[in-house]
Amino acid sequence: MVPPKSNTIDFDAAKLQRLGFAGKRGPSLRPLSLNQLRQQLNLQLQTSLELERILELFFREVQRLIPLAALSYQQPASDLRLELGERASHSASYHLNHDGEYLGELIFRRNLRFSDEELGQFESLLGTLVFPLRNALLYRTALQSALRDPLTGTGNRIAMEQALQREVDLARRNLNPLSLLMLDLDHFKQINDTHGHSVGDEALKAVAVALKSQLRNIDMVFRFGGEEFLILLSSTSREGAAMVGERLRHAVLSLQCAVQERRLELSVSLGCATLLPGESADSLLRRADGALYVAKREGRNRLTMAG
Ligand code: GH3
Ligand code: MG
Ligand code: MG
Repeated sequence: MVPPKSNTIDFDAAKLQRLGFAGKRGPSLRPLSLNQLRQQLNLQLQTSLELERILELFFREVQRLIPLAALSYQQPASDLRLELGERASHSASYHLNHDGEYLGELIFRRNLRFSDEELGQFESLLGTLVFPLRNALLYRTALQSALRDPLTGTGNRIAMEQALQREVDLARRNLNPLSLLMLDLDHFKQINDTHGHSVGDEALKAVAVALKSQLRNIDMVFRFGGEEFLILLSSTSREGAAMVGERLRHAVLSLQCAVQERRLELSVSLGCATLLPGESADSLLRRADGALYVAKREGRNRLTMAG
């Protein structure tokens, strides 16, 4: 089959090509002096906002001056951990800070001990990484917050639509089951009316925590609407999804939800649908919604399976 013609331009790669760095691999790169390398890095590291790319470039280029086996990076606050190369016995570790902001830890590794001169060179080279790294972390945070619901920390509707389409495509390609739970808090308006909107907000947060604590992939919980959540269960059959649904229903029921010292009775209704052969994401969503409607009509605090 002829691959579809793509009009996408990878701007990061395009910039790199213009600078004349494209396609070169670590060992074949010409060695450079410390000053030349700093200049090179100052140019190159500006060409991307992607953390992985920036660290790959840095790792590759540093080897033009200092032989390395590996570079690892971690930033616990943003749950980030990257490993490039292979593990080795000696390491030199640096904590990067900028203006009181912690940018993470970088560890260089190889099997030969680092000399004092090399340690000095690392410090000098790390100076070129600080601003690109900071910008990449900011960019990552911005991207993440664009996909997250600020109240509950679950995925938002945009994230849901992307994930649902991706999971439907994957399930089709790999002939894997895919199930979906649509979950809605029961009589939630009453909670707001009786206790106030801020108590309602706290209850929503507590429910989101309870849902996430029951799921293996918490990135698949989305706030679909006001008091409605959607849970995507990849590689999960109808029977498996029914079990998960019941577990979630019980988790919310047994939630000892005391908000601002007021005890709240919370329950949820759920609709469950499993992807049919050839079915679209929209249709799957509609069937789960239909099942939820039935659960509400039949008395709430229950799970209904779509036909
Ligand atoms: P049902 O069992 O039929 O679902 O009843 P319900 O009261 O939960 O449903 P309804 O759709 O009538 O009301 C939903 C309520 O959810 C109304 C709205 O005030 C509340 N709600 C939606 N979003 C939020 C929110 O972000 N915070 C709070 N506190 N309340 C919200
Ligand atoms: Mg409701
Ligand atoms: Mg609702």
